[in-house]
Parts: sequence; C-alpha cells; structure tokens
Amino acid sequence: MFGGFSKDLGIDLGTANSLVYLKGQGIIVREPSVVAVDVHNDEIKAVGNAAKRMIGRTPGNIVAVRPLKDGVIADYNKTLCMIEYFIRQAINTKKMLLPRRPNVMVCIPSGVTQPEKRAVEEATLGAGAKEAFMIEEPFAAAIGAGLPVWEPTGSMVVDIGGGTTEVAVISLGGIVTAKSLRVAGDKMDEAIIQYIRRKFNLLIGERTAEILKVEIGSAIPDDEDTKREIKGRDMVSGLPRMVTITSRDIAEALSETVEAIINSVKRTLEETPPELAADILDRGIVLTGGGALLRNLDRRLAEETKIPVHVADNPLDCVAVGTGAALEHLDMLKPRTGQALRFRRRRF
Ligand code: ADP
Ligand code: MG
Repeated sequence: MFGGFSKDLGIDLGTANSLVYLKGQGIIVREPSVVAVDVHNDEIKAVGNAAKRMIGRTPGNIVAVRPLKDGVIADYNKTLCMIEYFIRQAINTKKMLLPRRPNVMVCIPSGVTQPEKRAVEEATLGAGAKEAFMIEEPFAAAIGAGLPVWEPTGSMVVDIGGGTTEVAVISLGGIVTAKSLRVAGDKMDEAIIQYIRRKFNLLIGERTAEILKVEIGSAIPDDEDTKREIKGRDMVSGLPRMVTITSRDIAEALSETVEAIINSVKRTLEETPPELAADILDRGIVLTGGGALLRNLDRRLAEETKIPVHVADNPLDCVAVGTGAALEHLDMLKPRTGQALRFRRRRF
C-alpha cells in the first residue's frame, strides 16, 4: 500500500529557509520562509523569493513576516499559506516526475503544538497531497546527515537553524533525549547588532549583521584576524558612517549565544543513558543547519565536550533530504490515533 513513495515530496519548513526535496532530483525548491504582507488589510502579497524581493522596493505598507521565526507558529494563516505555496511550487515545477497527488512528508520545528501540526497536515492535503506525514526535525536532520538512526547505537545531532537549535540523541529509530533551544542564527545576528551599537555607537541592520557573521564570524577568537568594512548610522550624529570590524569583534559578540548552544549540548549529554553516551564518544557529534557553518564552532564544541565533532556535508540540506528519505521508512512510523504521524520513542 505504500508503493511509489520515492516519487513523493519531503518538505523542510524551516524558520529561515524552506526546502522541498524530490528523490532522484534533489532539492527542487529552496526559498526563504518569508511572507510579504500589506499592513493595511493583512493581505498576503507574495511568498518566498518573491516576498523577499518585494521588501524595500514597494510602498512602506508592505512588510516582511517570518511566520515561524521563533520555531512556533506565530501566525496561523500565513504559515498555512506558505506551506501551500511551497507544495504547489514543487508540484507545478515537477509535474512530469510526480504522481498527480504525491504523498508529502513535512518537517516543522519541534516547538509546534499538536493542533498546529494538525493544521499543517490539513494545509498539506489542501494543497494537493494524497497523504500527509510529519517528522520530528532532529530525526530528519540525522537521517539527512547519514547517521545510522535505525541501528541500536547512539547518534547525536545538533541542528542549528535561524530560530532554533535542536539537540537530540537517537537510537533504534527513536529520539532518546532531546532539547530545543530558541537560540540560533537569528540570536547571533541580534548579538552582533547589540555589540556594534555598544562598542562603535553604530546602528546596523539585520542583513549587515548576518553578513558579518557569515564572512568573518567565529566561535573562537583565533589569530586569523580578518577585517571587514561596514556602513551603519551613527547614533550620535544620525549620519551614515563606516567602521572596520574584525573577526575578533564578532567572536566576542557571539560568545554568549555560542555558549548557550554548547550548554544545551552538555545538558543533553548528561541526560543520555551511559551506553549511548559511549557510542557518541566513539562516533562523534554531527552538526547540521546553517549555523553549523559558523567557523570554528565544531572545534569549540569538540574542545568543550571532549567529543569529536563533524559538520555534515551540505548542512543546510540535511533536514529536507532526511524528510524525503523518511518516506521510504513509513513502515517504521507509528501513527497515533487522532494525531499527526511521527516517529515514536522505542524501548529496548
Ligand atoms: P532553518 O532551518 O531554521 O530555516 P537554516 O538551517 O536554513 O535555518 O539556517 C539558517 C541560519 O544559518 C541563518 O541564521 C543563517 O544566517 C545561518 N548561516 C548560514 N550560513 C552561515 C555561515 N556560513 N556561518 C554562520 N551562520 C550561517
Ligand atoms: Mg532547519
């Protein structure tokens, strides 16, 4: 009854980016999780890339909204609109390769509540899916990173996205211990804004902060002291001004958020059964999500936990790939009456 699932879709509805994966084709949709809204009547003007392009180029009444920004559904209708858009986009671009009504597996942040999951399920069916399935985010990340999730061995995955960091230990097809932290890429950007405001009396925007993080950011204030010039608004004169920021500045700005992530990994390890902790010590911790790309984060985490740390290949794609791959393991998924489908914790 579950034949033909390799032609179906896996969707990673992330806090920053949403991706659609089709087996044999790879990622077929990759767009920001953004909706453009008219503030006067709350009308949705565009979704994804088109929404991002619209911002700043249209009258001031159009604003960008990220409905999943903090890992919870802040705005129901906008989230549903977004998911429908991504599914339709995938179905429309790959009509020839897909069954008329594909099955769709969706991965949403773990802070989303059961009734919200049900709404996502309905939106998925409403957008043309034959059947809708859900998967927990760290589980999808682990599958996508190639971890042996079905085996009786402990695997640890840390997925650092825009709004949330998800830490989980997985064994025998189930999540054994997990934590979700609302500290990730966005909080890093905010920390950079605060730091530059305090140290240089300069106001910069979120986009500039993100550029600094990606280009010269580091989890360790290392010797390689790269510099970058940025422009902002002087807080005293109100005029535009240019300053030179060093990678040490950014490392200092990021220290608190990096520490929060490291602490949640340590706390998760403390709650992990000793046999599985031993497996993790042998196999190492795997980092996924865009935040995994922060320079030296792997090194810093390894130093602090005394456990080897690896960044997954294509960390931004792991959740989408794992969500799609999970469609081939539906027999391992256990339905719960009246709830969204999800992987169940298994006892052994
Ligand atoms: P989500 O799954 O929550 O949508 P992603 O996994 O797509 O999030 O990651 C997005 C986050 O990763 C953003 O905060 C972005 O700034 C950050 N990011 C992307 N590339 C890098 C990089 N090279 N260094 C540090 N952070 C990065
Ligand atoms: Mg993600």
